[in-house]
Amino acid sequence: MKTIGLLGGMSWESTAIYYRLLNEIVRDRLGGLHSAQLLLHSFDFAEIAERQHEGDWKGAAALLVEAARKLEMAGAEGLIICTNTMHKLADEVQAAISIPIVHIADATGEAVKKTGVKRPALLATRFTMEQDFYKGRLAERYGLEPVVPDEAGREIVHKIIYDELCQGLVIEASKEAYIAEIKRMWLNDNIDGVIMGCTEITMLIGQRDFDMPVFDTTRIHAEAAVAFMLG
Ligand code: GLU
Repeated sequence: MKTIGLLGGMSWESTAIYYRLLNEIVRDRLGGLHSAQLLLHSFDFAEIAERQHEGDWKGAAALLVEAARKLEMAGAEGLIICTNTMHKLADEVQAAISIPIVHIADATGEAVKKTGVKRPALLATRFTMEQDFYKGRLAERYGLEPVVPDEAGREIVHKIIYDELCQGLVIEASKEAYIAEIKRMWLNDNIDGVIMGCTEITMLIGQRDFDMPVFDTTRIHAEAAVAFMLG
């Protein structure tokens, strides 16, 4: 089994889910007492989120690059960045290390494409919904047409991620707000699936809440990481 390095703590709420999923998937594949061989660097998310919201992506990249190098030096053979948003910096991190990054948008794009879904709603942070690093990759490499909520919807989705989910708060009214947003997009935007494009969203909603295919990027990414480790 290859050792996977995790850039985590963005937030730790979802890194804890990754940790459980990686171990469960390895156990499912290998059985018995097998578990995931991994190294974790877990950031203080306050330091990352501050840089994100100030637009200091250079500062954030420096933190990620330093941690990724440490993981490589410690023996990681591949790397996962345990957040959709920080894949904005994936190319910079990749350029600084010689082990491969298992990219969350590639794992997601492949999973969506396989189902025939074409116009998935993309629920994520503002950075992921509004910038091109994620949507663009899904469009160019996988022929998808991701659709994001309108301005008011993006504000709600973003706020719930940072003010609630990343702080461990799972609130029924917020779940209803997410479901209402998808309903609105289904009526207006011709969506045919839902990408939960933030690794904490799985705490709030899931396939059980919708009649169309739902893509949980945390699980999809964990599965891709294990495929790399055991592949
Ligand atoms: N974990 C989230 C994501 O997947 C949001 C937190 C962050 O900005 O990293 O985008």
